[in-house]
Amino acid sequence: MQEYTVGVDVGGTKVAGGLVTPEGRLTKSFVVPTRANDGVKTSFGQVETLVEKLIRAAGGKSCVRGIGLCSPGAIDRRTGLVINAPNLPGWESLHLARELEKIFGLPARVENDANTAGLAEALYGAGAGYRDIFYVTVSTGIGTGIIIDRKIYHGTQGVAGEGGHVSIDYRSPYRCTCGTLGCIEVLASGPAIVRRARVKLDQEHAAASLLRTFTRGNLGLITPEMIERAARAGDRIAQEILDETGFFLGVWLGGMITLLDPGAVVIGGGVARIGKPLFSKIRQTLLRYTLNPKLAKKIPIVPAKLKQNVGVYGAAGLFRSNGEAE
Ligand SMILES: [Zn+2]
Repeated sequence: MQEYTVGVDVGGTKVAGGLVTPEGRLTKSFVVPTRANDGVKTSFGQVETLVEKLIRAAGGKSCVRGIGLCSPGAIDRRTGLVINAPNLPGWESLHLARELEKIFGLPARVENDANTAGLAEALYGAGAGYRDIFYVTVSTGIGTGIIIDRKIYHGTQGVAGEGGHVSIDYRSPYRCTCGTLGCIEVLASGPAIVRRARVKLDQEHAAASLLRTFTRGNLGLITPEMIERAARAGDRIAQEILDETGFFLGVWLGGMITLLDPGAVVIGGGVARIGKPLFSKIRQTLLRYTLNPKLAKKIPIVPAKLKQNVGVYGAAGLFRSNGEAE
């Protein structure tokens, strides 16, 4: 019977899809290039072909409960409309869910990628065992997902959970892409960390740093990984940058915990791979910036567990979390 859910993660460069069982086991998975630059017809065709392949692998339509999809950018869940996806030209105004329902005769749901990643961690990953989690992904941006009672919290108009655009410094010289000053995203995402490192190296132009060695003096080549490597090797400037990043994230997370009191906080994304030095600074700081430090201390702040298939798991999880298909 309907034991599988098709989960599809549509990215700017690749489309990943898989079959997930009700127990959360990924049994089959495929990856194809998105071919985003060839236009919406081609890239949607890639999704269609992948879904078709997965349904066949499941043993046919009768074995599939539904098709879950996640994509970056804003999505109107009620219509399955992709409102804007910067990396998928032509996808604006594509009724992704409706199109797939028409083609395959199966229910389809669409969700943005930070929400699905949060859901995936809550159902199958580092947040399993907790009813309420706050999920954060720190990479080229900062995305968040609020999971309450193992369901994505959407708010009244469907746009809740944009924690990356909560400002912690209204006097900040840095303006976020959303227009606000001092959003956590513009202070602590991967590009923000790199920018702060460059500024610091400019200010301390006489100070030796491994970052100068790694880039042969071309500071435009600095990456978050380089900063991590330099910090591990004991480089003072790199360590200060990471310390400051942990501080910013801690101030912000302290506020998020005051607001949400989650069972656990799960942190994913490339920057989270820095691990211990970053996490301990975050933990230490947030206790000073939250209302009930004694209680906040009990909240585990854990690294995300699901790696490259997080989107597939989360998209499939869309058919688990609404109660109707459990
Ligand atoms: Zn912002």
